[in-house]
Amino acid sequence: MEERDSWRFCDPVPRFPRYRRHAPAAPLFPPNFVGLIYLYAGMCCMIGARRGVGIRGQPSLIPRVSRKWLGKPLMYGIGTLLVMPLRTIHGVGRMFGAARYLCNMTSVSSSLQIELVPCLQDNYAYILHDVDTGTVGVVDPSEAVPIINALEKRNQNLTYILNTHHHYDHTGGNLELKAKYGAKVIGSEKDKDRIPGIDITLSEGDTWMFAGHQVLVMETPGHTSGHVSFYFPGSGAIFTGDTLFSLSCGKLFEGTPEQMYSSLQKIVALPDVTKVYCGHEYTLSNSRFALSIEPGNEELQEYAASTADLRNKNTPTVPTTIAREKQCNPFLRTSSPEIKKRLSIPDHFDDARVLEVIRRAKDNF
Ligand SMILES: [Zn+2]
Repeated sequence: MEERDSWRFCDPVPRFPRYRRHAPAAPLFPPNFVGLIYLYAGMCCMIGARRGVGIRGQPSLIPRVSRKWLGKPLMYGIGTLLVMPLRTIHGVGRMFGAARYLCNMTSVSSSLQIELVPCLQDNYAYILHDVDTGTVGVVDPSEAVPIINALEKRNQNLTYILNTHHHYDHTGGNLELKAKYGAKVIGSEKDKDRIPGIDITLSEGDTWMFAGHQVLVMETPGHTSGHVSFYFPGSGAIFTGDTLFSLSCGKLFEGTPEQMYSSLQKIVALPDVTKVYCGHEYTLSNSRFALSIEPGNEELQEYAASTADLRNKNTPTVPTTIAREKQCNPFLRTSSPEIKKRLSIPDHFDDARVLEVIRRAKDNF
């Protein structure tokens, strides 16, 4: 399968400009207008109070009023002007669908809410809600009912369905949700014949806009040949489906160890603080395997203990983070001497072959 080596953080040519209509009006004029008025009034009053004259040399109307009191509008104006540019730049970028030119600014704030919805036995779907526009999407709805219940609870509609790959436990709710809400289904170009109801196909490096939020598409094959991950840089979140789990990776049904290794490396090249939303709650059983091949990893020991605590309370362990996975996930630790020793892996094996051995050991665990 052909795959580009790198993918772009900012696509200069968005493929779906029509979806920019969901961007909210930019808060450019009103906040700064207010700030300017206060600033101007404050300065005039300060000057007037000090000189005892008004704006154009006329006697001041309020010569005896305290300068401290008069300074308040001035300070408010300065404060407003200092704070608003950040929101303004962000808002203008969204208004023109130009967040791609302002990548760094999208991380200033994010109005995207992510709700985890347990489905089937151990799947997670994720409801995405842009609070500015009310736009709602769902990632990997394996069944429709839990999603419908969650949406009805808040009287929300559904505009988009995002699928990381074609497996039924990630797409099983597509057609019912599409029929009920008229939602558009989004998935990999490579899975256009396998994802039920697909409307919009995306490929490596594409940028798609979800209500003004950049969504960067990363092809992450290995589990399936058409698997993609959706990265939201403005929210520091990635949806990895069955490629990267907490403490593991997906089984290699349609891909090679080399592809999975490359896909995982692409994901963990994102910032350490990135939150990872994966397709299943497997962390507890994964932690038992991880500890069996790297028992001396202290971070892993701690994480395994906290995972057991969380699961005892029926609390999700997702999201995890890139930083934690790099410290604890055996499939990202192919250079660990302890893992190599435990699995009797020869030193000359490259990372993909080490991953293959770890994967085989996990399959038989
Ligand atoms: Zn799968």
